[in-house]
Amino acid sequence: AEIALNQARIESQTIATYLQGEDERYLRELMIIRDLPIAISQGQLHLVFQPKVDIHSNSCNSAETLIRWQHPQLGFIPPDEFIRLAENSGNISMISDWVLNTTIKQLAQWQAQGIALTVAINLSAHDLTNAQLPLDIKQLLADNHLPIEALSIEVTEGTVMKDAQTVIAVLQQFKGIGIAIAIDDFGTGHSSLAYLKMLPVNEVKIDRSFIKDIHTDATDLMIVDTSIRLIKGLNLSVVAEGVESAEGINILRRLDCDIVQGYVYSKPLKADEFTTWFSQFNQPNLSANIKDTVN
Ligand code: C2E
Ligand code: MG
Ligand code: MG
Ligand code: MG
Repeated sequence: AEIALNQARIESQTIATYLQGEDERYLRELMIIRDLPIAISQGQLHLVFQPKVDIHSNSCNSAETLIRWQHPQLGFIPPDEFIRLAENSGNISMISDWVLNTTIKQLAQWQAQGIALTVAINLSAHDLTNAQLPLDIKQLLADNHLPIEALSIEVTEGTVMKDAQTVIAVLQQFKGIGIAIAIDDFGTGHSSLAYLKMLPVNEVKIDRSFIKDIHTDATDLMIVDTSIRLIKGLNLSVVAEGVESAEGINILRRLDCDIVQGYVYSKPLKADEFTTWFSQFNQPNLSANIKDTVN
């Protein structure tokens, strides 16, 4: 009887802890959803930029923009978390609008400084059901005297799955006006191969989960090797995401990967830090140094 009582005590304790955890998570999510609209008007959001490096020429001419939110009470909230909640609460287009406008402003500033870049923004499923978006973006670029190549978009396979017909039509429009499209997190979605055939994409980004152990895991190496052959066989450009070591770069170069993104080159940087990184990296002498350490 004592054992049973103890068991019951342990169980009810476990349930209590669980409920407490659930309640806390629930409260946190409510706060995030409640505060998202305020975050924009109060300037709590900012963008960071992560370089994409061409590993054949050792140069950088593109970057990805990633959103950051410093919440006054909750502190740093990972974008994976609040983007999902923004999608579920109908707030995502507000976020995407802000990202788009802020990126364009930054691009205009870089252009004025003589820095020519293609910057990729991440779009969500809901954005890709907006048939007006491609033309809005085209207009925004024109209004800011930026070439159409200044901006590109990244979408995940999951994004496309939600409403394939509508999304594909919108992607076709993006392609039609000359905006490059990348498939993000390749390998983590479902019908990867079917989508590659069907979608008007220019670039495929192999997910970090396959890249991170490439120097020690023979299975990952095989998967990445095969993916690169497939992607390049389809005449698309290939990006390896989340490369953290020089060893990783050497392997990827051998596998004929085109572009690398990862901490090995740089973490995502604030605009002014990016400007400094960019001009140093693309300087012939300095990039030779980085190249040496990486080879
Ligand atoms: P993603 O688009 O696949 O972005 C790549 C993520 O990997 C970023 O995380 C980046 O900081 C991280 N990363 C890059 N290199 C390395 C590396 O070498 N090692 C490791 N460990 N991580 C690396 P982040 O910024 O936390 O973003 C996570 C996801 O949130 C993004 O995945 C994207 O799906 C979403 N996201 C971020 N910003 C936006 C945005 O403005 N709009 C939308 N819709 N989604 C966004
Ligand atoms: Mg991305
Ligand atoms: Mg990714
Ligand atoms: Mg991701």
